[in-house]
Amino acid sequence: MFEDLQPAPTDKILALIGLYRADPRTDKVDLGVGVYKDRAGKTVVMRAVRAAEKRLLETQDTKTYLGLAGDLAFNAAMADLVFGKSADVTRIRSAQAPGGSGALRLAAELLKRTRPDAVVWISNPTWPNHIPMMRGAGLTVREYPYFDAESGTVRFDAMLAALKEAKSGDAVLLHGCCHNPTGANLTAAQWAEVADLLVARGLLPFVDIAYQGFGEGLEADAAGLRIVAGKVPEMLVAASCSKNFAVYRDRVGAAMIMGRTGPEADMAQGHMLAAARTLYSMPPDHGAAAVRIVLEDKDLRADWEAELEEMRQRMLRLRVAFAEALRRQSNSDRFDFIAEHRGMFSRLGLREDQVERLRAEHGVYMVGDSRINVAGLPEDGLDKLAKAIVSVLD
Ligand code: PMP
Repeated sequence: MFEDLQPAPTDKILALIGLYRADPRTDKVDLGVGVYKDRAGKTVVMRAVRAAEKRLLETQDTKTYLGLAGDLAFNAAMADLVFGKSADVTRIRSAQAPGGSGALRLAAELLKRTRPDAVVWISNPTWPNHIPMMRGAGLTVREYPYFDAESGTVRFDAMLAALKEAKSGDAVLLHGCCHNPTGANLTAAQWAEVADLLVARGLLPFVDIAYQGFGEGLEADAAGLRIVAGKVPEMLVAASCSKNFAVYRDRVGAAMIMGRTGPEADMAQGHMLAAARTLYSMPPDHGAAAVRIVLEDKDLRADWEAELEEMRQRMLRLRVAFAEALRRQSNSDRFDFIAEHRGMFSRLGLREDQVERLRAEHGVYMVGDSRINVAGLPEDGLDKLAKAIVSVLD
């Protein structure tokens, strides 16, 4: 039965974890996998989430099915968190999904049902799972240029020029904030320009927001998405709670639809949930219930926001300090863009062989495209790390 199979493609980032674990060097540095880590290298359970879980354990008296859309109060709280207080909720529907990944797939399934020939335009580069996920739903993918590795900035004109080739009914996948893997993001003015282009050409925005609160702050990180929502008639959103609630393994996310009217949004939601039924039926409850408790409880929410803000500030401090260390060690401003980037990642602009040398000679682990996880930077070893990086430059 299985004798004709060829090995499935391995996930490069997950493979890196194995290599890192097997490395006996005590001063090794892990800048690979995309999870937030504290100063001690730990990915801790957030205080408010732990308190919410305790409450859940004490008060939950049944585990009977909830339904295809999962926890309805979670859905409402997430729509509020993402779209903001002033959004027109009469046109927005939200469905709990297994992580941001599940939400992306649900939104893609809906797109396939409503526009089977639609092309999904995806930034180059992007999170490596985006493309197989869209293709997995049967959609066609095309790329738009996004990042200038030399300067570490967004190639905005090239992005717009490519999107002008998109046909009415195509979808444009946009990173809501904290672009993965580059760390380079659109300004508010650029978001508005993109939104105008989407409207003019009849394109559907499909926003993946997986790091809300990791960039400029909870509200500011959703500002671009909200600018788009204020201009376009319809949009799709896939939100992840993995990072900002640190509930990675619990699989918490939400797929959202903004329709032209309430009844149209209901119709679309119905198809999205029908797709869920054929994929996994209902989403897992525990993590979403904990997130819902945090979002609905004034004190827990304040504590969650405070802890999230501490995480964000730590990443910002690391960015500035690392850019300064690289400036000192390289005697150049080549890496100054690291301080300008936002979110958990930056792409350093190194070649694959340079990344490989860093691993082999210095025990520094990063993804092959030179993406680093800023949260993994060693607070007390930035100059040593910068020196290692400079040593592999030409
Ligand atoms: N989108 C982006 C851009 C991501 O980086 C990630 C996680 N790495 C996700 C979506 C999905 O996250 P999850 O399924 O773990 O919630």
